[in-house]
Amino acid sequence: MEQEFLQAEKEAENKSDYEKAGFYQKQSESLRHERVLDLLSRYCVIPKYGFPVDVVELQVYREGRPDNRYDLSRDLRVAISEYAPDSEVIVDGKKYTSKYVTLPKIKGFTRHYFCTCPNCRKVNVHLSEGTDRLCKYCGEPIGSLNWEYYIEPAEGFKTGITKESTRMKPKRSYAGEVFYLGGGQKDEAAAVFGEMITAESSSNDRLLVMNKSRFYICPRCGYAEIIKGNIPGLRMEQEHKNFRQYNCENETLQPVRLGHSFETDVARLIIPLLRSQEREDYAKALSFLYAFLEGFSMAAGIERKDIDGVLELNLEKGSYDVLIYDNVPGGAGHVKRLIDEEIMRKALESARSKVLQNCCDENTSCYNCLRNYYNQSKHSLLRRGYAREIIDLLAPVRPAASRSDTGI
Ligand SMILES: [Zn+2]
Ligand SMILES: [Zn+2]
Ligand SMILES: [Zn+2]
Repeated sequence: MEQEFLQAEKEAENKSDYEKAGFYQKQSESLRHERVLDLLSRYCVIPKYGFPVDVVELQVYREGRPDNRYDLSRDLRVAISEYAPDSEVIVDGKKYTSKYVTLPKIKGFTRHYFCTCPNCRKVNVHLSEGTDRLCKYCGEPIGSLNWEYYIEPAEGFKTGITKESTRMKPKRSYAGEVFYLGGGQKDEAAAVFGEMITAESSSNDRLLVMNKSRFYICPRCGYAEIIKGNIPGLRMEQEHKNFRQYNCENETLQPVRLGHSFETDVARLIIPLLRSQEREDYAKALSFLYAFLEGFSMAAGIERKDIDGVLELNLEKGSYDVLIYDNVPGGAGHVKRLIDEEIMRKALESARSKVLQNCCDENTSCYNCLRNYYNQSKHSLLRRGYAREIIDLLAPVRPAASRSDTGI
C-alpha cells in the first residue's frame, strides 16, 4: 500500500503537481500512524479477537461540553450507520443527534478511493486516484470512472444540537452496505455437495462496510451533514459551529463516504443454479442467502448476529456466489464449519423449515422468516417462496415412497 503512495507522490512530482504530491505524502504518514495500532494487534500486543479494537464512541456533548455519564460505544461496522452524522439516538429518554466526526489527533483522515467496476461489479479500493488503472478483479479499464473516497471514522463521533421535535422515534440510517474485497488466505479443504454447491473457505479475508449516504464534512472540526439526493457537488460553502459551539473558521465542506474495512473468515458457496441473468434473479439469490443464514445459524447453534452474508457476481458461471462471513472482530471460524457435509445438509434442512412456516404470504417475507433489523434495505426484495424453490432444487426432499421402505 505504501508503495502505491510513493508512486503516486513521484508521479505528481514529475508532473510538477506539488499540491498533490504533498497530499499523498500526508496520506502515507497518516496511514503509517494507523498501521502502528494494526501491527500491535496483529502481533498480539493487543489481541484482536475478543478485544474490541474497532469499537468507537458517540461522545455526548451538552452546550459544547462533553457529558461523560454515558458510554455509547459500538463496533465501527455498526457505528458507521447508527452513529453517522444526523442519526439520532435515545439515551435516558432524551434524544441526541450525531453531528461531528471526530478527527484523528495527529493527521487528517486517510482517503480510501473506490469505484465499482461496471464489468464485474466489484469494488476496487486504492489509496490514490489512478487514471490508467485496470480493475484488479477482471482487468477492465476503470481509470476514467468517477472515483469517490471514503474515510474510516475510527475516532468516533460527537453529538451536536438536537432540533426539538415531538417525534420520539429516532431517525436512523440503514445498516451499511457490505462489499467483498478479498485478499485472504484460502484454506486447502473444499467440499462439493451433490454437485450443486461447491464450498471453500478463507481466513483474513477483507470486507468493506459503507454507509449508503454521502456526507459533507468540515476538515477542520468534523462537522458533517448528510447529503440529500444522489449527486454531491465538489464542495459546499456553509457557516457552522464546531463541537464546542463556536463558529468554525472553515466554511468549505467536502463530500465523503463513511466506511470501514475489516478482516474475517469467509465461506464461499459457488452455486451455479443461482443464475444472474434476469432482474428477478437477484431477488431470488438474496432470498436464498437470508434463508440460508437462518438455517446455518439454527443448525450449527451460532447466534444469527454473529454471521452474515453477501452476494458476489460470478462472471465465469453467470451466477451469484453466496459469501457467508463471521460477523465478529477478526473472525471466529464459524463459517469454516460449512465445509462439513453434515452441517451443510442440516443448514439447508433448517433453512427449509424456516421458509415452510405459514408466517406470511409466499410472495413476501416477514420477521419470522427472512427479515431482520439489519437487512431492512432489502426487505422489499425478499420472498419466502423464492427461497423455498431454490432450497428444494439444491436439496430435493426425499420422495415419500423411500420412507415406506423403512417399514413405516
Ligand atoms: Zn472488474
Ligand atoms: Zn468546521
Ligand atoms: Zn414470513
